[in-house]
Amino acid sequence: MRDGTVDVSAQASVSMAQRKWVLLSEPTSLLRVVEANSQQSTLRPADAGTELLGATPMDKGGWRVPADNNAPEFFVVGTPGIEHRRVGDFTVRYVADDWQRVHHLGLMSSHAQALHYLGDVVYADTPVPERERALLVVWVGIDARHGRAGGAAGSRSFLANYMIGGDKNVPDHLAVTFMIMAHEQFHQLADARRGELPELPAWINESIAQYYGLRAMQRAIHDAATAEKLIRQFIDPDREVEQRFAEVEGMFAIDRPRALELAYRQGATFWAELDRTLRVASDGASSLDEYIPGLLQMKFPEDGLLPQAFLTQLRSWNDSRIEQAIMKYVGAAPDTENSGR
Ligand SMILES: [Zn+2]
Repeated sequence: MRDGTVDVSAQASVSMAQRKWVLLSEPTSLLRVVEANSQQSTLRPADAGTELLGATPMDKGGWRVPADNNAPEFFVVGTPGIEHRRVGDFTVRYVADDWQRVHHLGLMSSHAQALHYLGDVVYADTPVPERERALLVVWVGIDARHGRAGGAAGSRSFLANYMIGGDKNVPDHLAVTFMIMAHEQFHQLADARRGELPELPAWINESIAQYYGLRAMQRAIHDAATAEKLIRQFIDPDREVEQRFAEVEGMFAIDRPRALELAYRQGATFWAELDRTLRVASDGASSLDEYIPGLLQMKFPEDGLLPQAFLTQLRSWNDSRIEQAIMKYVGAAPDTENSGR
């Protein structure tokens, strides 16, 4: 594909960097074997002359294909330039369409910073299990004039667009680039942390990734005003709530773009409000971060509501503002709602 035109959120398989390598996207290009006791399987190149790179190397060669309750994976076929880094507990393999641009934008150090921060949020004091420590990150530039930059997270890998060109709004574009990267990094960590558990409800998955993606972006950006401007596009407690998440969850199957939009904006606003209220209620002793490792291990009801165990934890603060935030953004089970429906 022509340089600067690949929106990686399409999760397609595309030839990159003058055909030096091909991005192989499991969601659109690989059949995943579903077995009764489906653990994980291995992807190997068909012949010795084919170079294959994945996220997690298997003991007997080849690369892990995740089990079917996990997010899909991304692979690289061919000979890209690969960089390895140790970031805390993680070993990360990076592939880029253009290393000069990636280094110039400081993407390697901002990713390391985001992984440290988000790894701490997701795992807290628990050591990261050995099999969850190898990651693959693929950077692909997209022309700012294209108007769209995206990402896609896999089980141990993710793709992220970074914005190039467009001389005018360079700081704004960098903030968007960092936000996308951190959003996808959060998804990846959340998938690993859930392990064998079923996928998170879509609105939860997308809204927490967006909230923590913005928080990580804010830490990585030196220009506070630029970060704040981007945050305000998503987090706005004054914005009217059009539909609560108990209604939005079903929308993902019908109108995914609209449901995503609600998760990114209204959903991120919910977590920001809950975080703020927890800090106030606890005089700064607690925050949302403390609840995330537990929340990611919970079973979620199918109606788009929050798990009972999480609500019980929050209610132990006995603070009506927490209750109000939940009612305003998420809604409640019909039998406890006084709407007269
Ligand atoms: Zn997402």
